Amino acid sequence: MTQSDSDDSFLPSATAPTWLGVMGGGQLGRMFAHAAQAMGYKVAVLEPARDCPAGHAADHLLVAGYTDAVALNELGEQCVAVTTEFENVPADSLARLAEQAFVAPSSAAVSVAQDRLVEKRFFTDCARQSGVPPAPHAAVGAEADIDALPDDLFPGILKTARMGYDGKGQVRVNSRDEVRAAFAQMQGVACVLEKMLPLAYEVSVLAARGADGQAVVYPIAENVHRDGILFTTTVPGPNVSADCAKHAQAAALQIIARLDYVGVLCIEFFVLKDGSLVVNEMAPRPHNSGHYTIDACVTSQFAQQARAMARLPLGDARQHSPAVMLNILGDLWFADGSDTQREPAWAQVLALPGANLHLYGKDDPRRGRKMGHVTFVAATLADAQKHFNDACRILGIAA
Ligand code: ATP
Ligand code: MG
Repeated sequence: MTQSDSDDSFLPSATAPTWLGVMGGGQLGRMFAHAAQAMGYKVAVLEPARDCPAGHAADHLLVAGYTDAVALNELGEQCVAVTTEFENVPADSLARLAEQAFVAPSSAAVSVAQDRLVEKRFFTDCARQSGVPPAPHAAVGAEADIDALPDDLFPGILKTARMGYDGKGQVRVNSRDEVRAAFAQMQGVACVLEKMLPLAYEVSVLAARGADGQAVVYPIAENVHRDGILFTTTVPGPNVSADCAKHAQAAALQIIARLDYVGVLCIEFFVLKDGSLVVNEMAPRPHNSGHYTIDACVTSQFAQQARAMARLPLGDARQHSPAVMLNILGDLWFADGSDTQREPAWAQVLALPGANLHLYGKDDPRRGRKMGHVTFVAATLADAQKHFNDACRILGIAA
């Protein structure tokens, strides 16, 4: 471990390597490893699958379950600081790692984001100050709760309280009978019924906070989803007003401070047709909607995470170029519904000005699977959008 004399940061060192650890081996861990290594750190990843995106980039891969005591001990011994790249990491494992290493974000902060009910209670609390409430909702923990549901939550969406992602674990419901059927279909796990809101568009705000309590906030990002999966992120968002951006960024800074959070946090908001702002959920880690920061901001969300973990000063969150990020799903390897796999036309995409290709090292493309992303940066948003549209034509995506 290398600690500087002047403070308690974990500095990179050329002679005695300083290790940062990651729970999880997905693409977020991979991009984190790239950023941390660029700053001179070594990166260890703990993940059950040997063949994983972060494993290909890590300096050391521990192939083990997330609760494996021996592997957790090894990770904690090797690393000065440990983070997570997915929110469903067992909170107990983070607590255990905290006995040996600096863990950011903390197990307590991650726990809030792991349970929609706890998260909504926290957002409701924050709303007193920020004025940004969560969607009207009610807990559905047992059959008996269904009769007591207020009428004005319909039509609604029943969401599992835990483990949902990319729209999985969600069912749209119009009546109590439909809630009963959906609740049974989810095998009676704890759920939340949320009122279906009239969305105008969706935005997210990335914030980061250091161990010293200093926080930074990135520009607001406008997100478009398709089939429950993020399709594009555009920054600056074409629909976002200066007022909305200010409001969402202030709410994000309040949330990150109230959680006493260290690291990168992403908060998703809905903007309703009447212009009001609703907070949807948060991810206690870098986020897909923040990938544009790699190519368009002074400090990427992954470099920011490394700085926060190492207790270094946070980097400048300023965006230097307008950007459109396009997610690349496995569908693109199967042209026109064909079963024959073929590589998308990367050379043509990369010939477009300001195109930055990021592939995650997954050799098994499947429909709906996130394989990579392309970020278009340009001097103006109109140019970035034009090149994004050209790429959609080349790749056969309806823009
Ligand atoms: P992810 O992890 O990909 O962000 P998720 O599975 O955790 O998604 P949510 O973000 O809660 O789920 O919902 C997925 C999408 O469903 C939202 O981005 C939004 O488009 C839509 N949605 C969710 N809740 C509501 C609501 N109350 N009213 C209207 N639309 C909603
Ligand atoms: Mg979401």
